[in-house]
Amino acid sequence: MANKLNNELNKVDHTKNIIEIKDVSFGYDRNKDILKSINLEIHKGDYIGFVGPNGSGKTTLIKVILGLLEFREGSIKIFNQDLKNFKDWNKIGYVSQRMANFDNNFPLTVEEVVLMGRYSGKKLGGRITDEDRKLTQESLREVEMWDYRDSLIGDLSGGQMQRVFIARALASKPEIIFLDEPTTGIDEKSENDFYQLLQELNKKMGITLVIVSHDIERLTREVMHIVCINQTLTCHTTPEEFIKESQTSNMFGEDVKIITHHKHN
Ligand code: ADP
Repeated sequence: MANKLNNELNKVDHTKNIIEIKDVSFGYDRNKDILKSINLEIHKGDYIGFVGPNGSGKTTLIKVILGLLEFREGSIKIFNQDLKNFKDWNKIGYVSQRMANFDNNFPLTVEEVVLMGRYSGKKLGGRITDEDRKLTQESLREVEMWDYRDSLIGDLSGGQMQRVFIARALASKPEIIFLDEPTTGIDEKSENDFYQLLQELNKKMGITLVIVSHDIERLTREVMHIVCINQTLTCHTTPEEFIKESQTSNMFGEDVKIITHHKHN
């Protein structure tokens, strides 16, 4: 496979579906669809950017995939299992925008926040083990926040906080992480570091990433594939194709449906 990632450890494995969404429709209200007939496959090793106007359903789609909202029609498979029977939620990480708006008075240390991520994956009454502590340390080192382990989470900057929430997701050894506007309110330098970290997670650790951002220009420089969402899927393409198409058409217009399934080869 001759592609720009030849020297990197990780490549997209188009034979392995992590998530398979078929004809999924969802509405908060029975009479109004927010998502309509969504079809999407997410392959192992991919790095996907979800783009679309405000209110087009990006966050809703992620919540549907995470099982937080019950869809009305269609089917979703996660690691080849029906979402309704899926139990291995530790394989899936989620970092939302809201995490950066953490209550400043929250009395937890950085280490405790990451340990809690381990704890939430356990059955009720499970104790923190040496393994939990080891994985917590490894994850905090991975995001270069181990030195801050005893700091209160509320005392960190937005950028540092988001790294801790990445560590929290990493501590359960996820295969895929969803990130919803993770850099909102973060300064430019921290944002660059954050995107650098995401590249490492994807290329060196082989973690599949799906990120929502309104910063389309940035996304086209970072991700391997762009997925446009405007109630339904209006494109699934490479950043290069996306840029070309967006120069000649209104990507999000009613009458524009660009579906170019581009394989990375
Ligand atoms: P995006 O992430 O693309 O900005 P959202 O998925 O947040 O879009 O929202 C899609 C639509 O669903 C919007 O019209 C929004 O107002 C509506 N919506 C979002 N959350 C709720 C909710 N909890 N109840 C009712 N409508 C909602």
